Amino acid sequence: MTLHIPFDNSYAALPSGFFSAQPPVAVKAPDLLAFNQPLAAQLGIDTRPDIGPDIGPADLAQVFAGNVVPDGAAPLAQLYAGHQFGNFNPQLGDGRALLLGEVIDQTGTRRDIQLKGSGPTPYSRMGDGRAWLGPVLREYVVSEAMHALGIPTTRALAAVASGEPIWREQGALPGAVLTRVASSHLRVGTFQVFAHRGQVEELKTLTDYAIARHCPQADGPMGLLKAVCAAQADLIAAWMSVGFIHGVMNTDNCAISGETIDYGPCAFMDAYDEARVFSSIDQQGRYAFGNQPRIAVWNCAQLATALIQQMDDVDAAIEEATAIVHAMPAQLQTAWLHRFGAKLGLEHPTTDDQPLIEDLLALMQSNGADFTNTFAALGTDTAQDQFTDRAAFDAWNTRWQARIASEPDAKALMARSNPRIIPRNHRMEQMIEAAVAGDMAPFEREMKALATPYDPASDPDLMRPPTQHEIVPATFCGT
Ligand code: AMP
Ligand code: MG
Repeated sequence: MTLHIPFDNSYAALPSGFFSAQPPVAVKAPDLLAFNQPLAAQLGIDTRPDIGPDIGPADLAQVFAGNVVPDGAAPLAQLYAGHQFGNFNPQLGDGRALLLGEVIDQTGTRRDIQLKGSGPTPYSRMGDGRAWLGPVLREYVVSEAMHALGIPTTRALAAVASGEPIWREQGALPGAVLTRVASSHLRVGTFQVFAHRGQVEELKTLTDYAIARHCPQADGPMGLLKAVCAAQADLIAAWMSVGFIHGVMNTDNCAISGETIDYGPCAFMDAYDEARVFSSIDQQGRYAFGNQPRIAVWNCAQLATALIQQMDDVDAAIEEATAIVHAMPAQLQTAWLHRFGAKLGLEHPTTDDQPLIEDLLALMQSNGADFTNTFAALGTDTAQDQFTDRAAFDAWNTRWQARIASEPDAKALMARSNPRIIPRNHRMEQMIEAAVAGDMAPFEREMKALATPYDPASDPDLMRPPTQHEIVPATFCGT
């Protein structure tokens, strides 16, 4: 029995210069490690015996390892460019990923189904086109956790072990393939590649395609820019509100849809630190926690620069695009205030509330307070325990109590704005170590707890910050 996926492909119908048709390269011994049944059902891929055809784990493994290409798929590697750490690379493209095709999901939204780690493509450069188990499971867990937190993100549909070793700096590692679902894989870099080459017709086609797919109400290229800026501002504020550090906010990892994409060296912070960096390759701290808003604006400025190339009146377009991008810091600020206000129980925070938020963050920074657990404990007796300078916290707490006295729904708002469970870095490392040794129990445990991150009765051991010897100081791209 082969799996039926109701493909409805549109990217494959774009001009051939947008992509390279490329079948996946089969792996030796595919073994299904994880499958997201609820997501599959949303996508119209129903494998439950009582509803759809009886498809077992071995069949799913064949499809989501790339060994069997399902009917209707049109596998292709997408072309794009991008600024990596500020330097423009005129050609990147999917070097280890393939778009299998698209489906229209139950809500009527077009979604990409993409294999990651499915073998080399014309854009692989020196890479092997593969991924190892660690980053595959990390992306699976963290992207699903992000979704459960209510933050726009690509999703994880399947993880399959390949049964093949792959070689990285650490030596031979078990290979794996991730199936990722996105509302599209269009990036800032997709626009940059055509703008850089002066391919105006292609740029126009791409712009029309993006508008039709993501913001049909948008008026032309500048309307698209406006929509992307707004989506990015909301996304970055959402990341900040849960202590998330993306780690590689290159323009090729900045999705037009406003979804979080490319979970490489990303991490959730434990102790609050505005300057926190995890990625081992981010030596200058370009993508540090507190720099993320600035970088999002910079990325949108690159999109503006690319989009302008297709405008008839370039001077007018520059003026309009500049105004749109310059409006972004204020949008970010508003979104940030709203997110952090909610974390303090303030339904309609104003700029007058900003010092209250900033003073708490400053205290958390100087006291090394745990980001997640501090917000989760506010309003309880244990909040003080997060701070070494208890008197300073008490003084802040008195101010805060006075402010929320007039907020009848503070408690409920805080309960749905302050997660208890985040994918802590040390737990991700322990989960990967166990999975490499064949034990998927820590993975299952994380997935279960992270599905309900606001539940106060969550798995207490997974709420705990790392002990001194569990701290993971750096993360790796895993490429
Ligand atoms: P990333 O840092 O994952 O966003 O990747 C940056 C670029 O490197 C993209 O074009 C990827 O497709 C490519 N890439 C990353 N890892 C590999 C790999 N193992 N083989 C081939 N290309 C890769
Ligand atoms: Mg990428």
